Amino acid sequence: MNTAEITSVTKETVDEAEESKGQDFSFCSLEEYNSFIYRFRINSMELDIEIAEDKQRSHGYRIVDAHYLITNAMKLQINHNKHCTGGCLEYFQEKRNGLISSFVYKCNVCDKEMVLETEPTTSSKRSMLNYVAVWGTLATGSCYAHLEEFLSVLDAPALSKKMFFKHERELSSMWKDSLWEVMKLAGKEEHEIAKTNGDIDADGIPYITVFLDGG
Ligand SMILES: [Zn+2]
Repeated sequence: MNTAEITSVTKETVDEAEESKGQDFSFCSLEEYNSFIYRFRINSMELDIEIAEDKQRSHGYRIVDAHYLITNAMKLQINHNKHCTGGCLEYFQEKRNGLISSFVYKCNVCDKEMVLETEPTTSSKRSMLNYVAVWGTLATGSCYAHLEEFLSVLDAPALSKKMFFKHERELSSMWKDSLWEVMKLAGKEEHEIAKTNGDIDADGIPYITVFLDGG
């Protein structure tokens, strides 16, 4: 039951009390009921909220590092049983970071929670899968909407727009730097070739001849 539901119940309870003035109830007298409602003020009491996790929420497909996942899934249970004999890890919930999922398992004996991720955590904490998904999308001339639709058809959760554009900005900066380096290297190579061929103008600057096809 969430907060909204709890608020709704308590409001309805008080409303019912207002409407039922003058009536006794099967489980208590009107006097007892009103005493409880108005003296203890249910609506102002602090409520304990329990968030029930739906274990069936993890539906659809995920893109995983197969070797990493298979190996670590086995290790997770084996390592836990070294300290908790007989404890069985059961799926509890999924936390997602873009295309990466962290599956939380809970031991049915000691309640210890353990996490199994779908790709190895790097030292930079950057998800390689999220990064290359953006790279591949842009490299094929596509955009966020294309990637989102593609993943939707696969029944796989997509990464957020915010994450996509964050990686896109990083990639555009990296590609720009890389392109500039390649252009500088190509320029130096052409410079050396021009000098070797003696293609130097009246001011002593090497030059190259460029042919265009007019296309
Ligand atoms: Zn255990």
